[in-house]
Amino acid sequence: MSQAGETGTLFVISAPSGAGKTSLVAEMLHADHKLGVSVSHTTRPMREGEKEGVNYHFVSREDFEAMINRGDFLEHADVFGNYYGTSQVWVREMLASGRDVILEIDWQGAVQVRRLIPECVSVFIVPPSAQALEERLVGRGTDLPEVVSRRLKEAREECRHAVEFDYLVVNDEFKEALADLLGIVRTQRLRMGTQHARHRQLLAGLCGEGDNQA
Ligand code: 5GP
Repeated sequence: MSQAGETGTLFVISAPSGAGKTSLVAEMLHADHKLGVSVSHTTRPMREGEKEGVNYHFVSREDFEAMINRGDFLEHADVFGNYYGTSQVWVREMLASGRDVILEIDWQGAVQVRRLIPECVSVFIVPPSAQALEERLVGRGTDLPEVVSRRLKEAREECRHAVEFDYLVVNDEFKEALADLLGIVRTQRLRMGTQHARHRQLLAGLCGEGDNQA
């Protein structure tokens, strides 16, 4: 727990691939220094430009399974043939210290987190149209048609779970989507439960507590 007795809020952010989730989360972290993002463990191979400990902690299947058995994960899932998981200790420690934490995870992970931490706030990001989704997944057109159609199938599967989330953000204009996300974070911080812990003394003083005069 932080000194003031506040605990941070857990934000779960999911999206189909191609919705711009990673860029939006990176900008959220830039804009709001009170936010932290969990670096997941994964068994998928590192992509060009990615860094160990920055994008992911890249581990073998064997190590990942050992971590599952030790109960190291808050949630974990098999996403398109690779394991992904969120460190239990890191998230719990950050929240206890009063920091707000973002998890960039898929819908299966979101289901598990909601069950464990019902007060979490979940956000689903979508592209502005089915056509935009397709265009973003086709990309430069260098991928094989079967790779593109598999990605599209996976993205549609993810989108089927959008209604399970608390908020929906449409990423048409990047800046607007970013403002929406930051707005959700700000609103959450203004909720009475959060504010009461943060401003306990202020409220007590305003109510005349500790004051002998009637
Ligand atoms: P990518 O391999 O493209 O980085 O991510 C593939 C999918 O895995 C994305 O939907 C991403 O949100 C999800 N993912 C990344 N980390 C985690 C995690 O720790 N847990 C879960 N359940 N999904 C994750």
